[in-house]
Amino acid sequence: MYPDQNSKSKSLYDRAMISLPGGNTRTTVYIKPYPIYAARGAGCRVWDVDGNEFIDCINNFTSLIHGHAHSSLIEAAARQLALGSAFGMPTESEIDLAELLAARLPIDQVRFANSGTEAVMMALKAARAFTGRPKIAKCEGAYHGSYDYAEVSLDPTPAAWGGNAPVSVAYAKGTPTNVLADVVTIPFNDIEGATSLIRAHGHELACVLVDPMPNRAGLVPADKAYLEALRDVTREIGALLVFDEVITFRLGFHGAQGLWGIDPDLTTLGKIIGGGFPVGAVAGNKEVMAVFDPSRGKPALPHGGTFSANPVTMRAGLVAMQLLDRMAFERLDAIGDAVRAGINDSFRRHGVSGTAVGLGSLLKIHFSDRPIRDYRSAYMTEREARRLSTFNLALLNRGILASSYGLMALSLPMTDADVDQIIGAVSDALAGVVATT
Ligand code: PMP
Repeated sequence: MYPDQNSKSKSLYDRAMISLPGGNTRTTVYIKPYPIYAARGAGCRVWDVDGNEFIDCINNFTSLIHGHAHSSLIEAAARQLALGSAFGMPTESEIDLAELLAARLPIDQVRFANSGTEAVMMALKAARAFTGRPKIAKCEGAYHGSYDYAEVSLDPTPAAWGGNAPVSVAYAKGTPTNVLADVVTIPFNDIEGATSLIRAHGHELACVLVDPMPNRAGLVPADKAYLEALRDVTREIGALLVFDEVITFRLGFHGAQGLWGIDPDLTTLGKIIGGGFPVGAVAGNKEVMAVFDPSRGKPALPHGGTFSANPVTMRAGLVAMQLLDRMAFERLDAIGDAVRAGINDSFRRHGVSGTAVGLGSLLKIHFSDRPIRDYRSAYMTEREARRLSTFNLALLNRGILASSYGLMALSLPMTDADVDQIIGAVSDALAGVVATT
């Protein structure tokens, strides 16, 4: 049972607190009173250092779509490791992965990086370099990694978020005020609110950055009309439209942009395209991507990165993406629909206010009956936050690993029996919520 003061995780945590702030390296994997340390994973299961087994419904925050230790990915990575893990030269592996991505997305070219954070940073810098304009617009509550500009208004409180036109609020202490001045925060899924702000800053805006289904802003799909309006207004003012598909690329063979039928000017990618290894990418048409091109002298946007397009990542990523064919997406859609339906049914049976939203293999649990449309409607009351944390603990102790903020990301190795086990554990955990909150 978690927490257990005598567990190996607790003793690792005590040791880790000396050399790592918070006992680990990621705010997102910290949980109170101590994080659970992983030992190994296979398929859709992980085992912690105490030997507890979990069905992994977080999959390294959506990046593992084939689960853990897939034999083809091990083979691809191992083959490259034996040939050398990194070179001060380009390799064929990056051409192969770029070609696969260009066959699935309406893009010509790709630049690789090591994380989604870097991908978004490069996309914003590319938009500035291409347009010569300083400002960017992004949606309130949307997470795009930890670049100063991209993390503005990630978690504003109701007291700080302002009226219909959102106020740009710093996420991290020490954020320069100039950053806030250069970020226009727009409301998600509100055409009039977003387009009027975009037009008001029109001649200064380099781009509008949008995640078609922003996880932290509720994981509700954008209305098609909203994305179309962003497409139209960015064209009107001469700014670029940037889709952050770091997570949503796992929604379909052609990504979220294929599902919605909208072509952005730049797309950021990460997570699944690295086959389990660190990765990021920015992709777009030749005209925009020319900002990175050093073949005609110093580019508008020089970009390096010691480990960018690392061949181990590229080789594993290529195989991961090849395995992710149209049938794989059908399966992911089916298990996602089944888990969402099972959870929503459990909410009804237990008489608890709540809903599971999302699309495909991604879902998020809200302890609320409000229609969730955007960051503000998804914002939890204290009671909802209490219920979510009681629920998460109960789920963990029933062998299901989900994110502390209610996100689940499913994977291909999950069988129908695993799906039933997830739904059963959710139902039991909800019974516990009813009893205690
Ligand atoms: N964009 C989105 C939409 C994300 O969800 C994330 C990470 N969860 C990032 C960017 C940043 O990616 P990374 O963690 O690889 O830096």
